[in-house]
Amino acid sequence: MKSAPSPKTILAVGAHPDDIDIGCSGSISKWIKKGAKAYYLVLTDGSKGSEDPKISHQKLTKLRHAEQKKSANLIGVSRVFFLDFVDGELENTLKLRQKIVKIIRKIKPTTVICFDPTLVYDGQRQFINHPDHRVCGQATLDAVFPYARNIRSFPELLTEGLEPHSVQEVLLINFQKQNFYVDITSNMDLKMAAIGCHQSQFPQMEKFQQRIKAFAQTYGIKAKPKAKYAEGFFKITLR
Ligand SMILES: [Zn+2]
Repeated sequence: MKSAPSPKTILAVGAHPDDIDIGCSGSISKWIKKGAKAYYLVLTDGSKGSEDPKISHQKLTKLRHAEQKKSANLIGVSRVFFLDFVDGELENTLKLRQKIVKIIRKIKPTTVICFDPTLVYDGQRQFINHPDHRVCGQATLDAVFPYARNIRSFPELLTEGLEPHSVQEVLLINFQKQNFYVDITSNMDLKMAAIGCHQSQFPQMEKFQQRIKAFAQTYGIKAKPKAKYAEGFFKITLR
């Protein structure tokens, strides 16, 4: 049996407010209860997350920030960082990587959680992955290696006192392939409450929560030992 790691410091990176809560808040809350410190980093402003033409971008962003802060608070997250790139327009630029590196060097995470950028679509579950999710995954992986650990990258950060930092492990959220599962049975209620904070995103909240629970059950079957509910990741341990 593979024992669950107990990361000391976690940085979870999402493209939109709600991504992290859906993808990995069960594991994060579990590790916080074991003494870990966790941080959320949200790359975009979430300003495309509504079909209501009457709500302004600014109002929507403000609402989504508030929803994200509320859920992070429930999970026990120490701080949420918002980079506020425009939703739907995220590109893997040097500027984006530098901003992610800056936060990595600031909080020095042992564990970074982000999307697997290789997931373009899922034939089994019939969905196309959001382009921001793919960019978020790629830019975060790039930031972890080589930029965050390389002293010659972004020398302006050194002058700010932000020394190179080597992340120990990366957990990728990929709905198709996993090599690592975390039993979140006792944290499922908390995860559901965190998702429940994102009212603006899920008008049929209960239905969505049931879908997430069903996913967690399928991961639970694959977990060793089996669990009622689990989150699944592809784990990369770095040297
Ligand atoms: Zn998203």
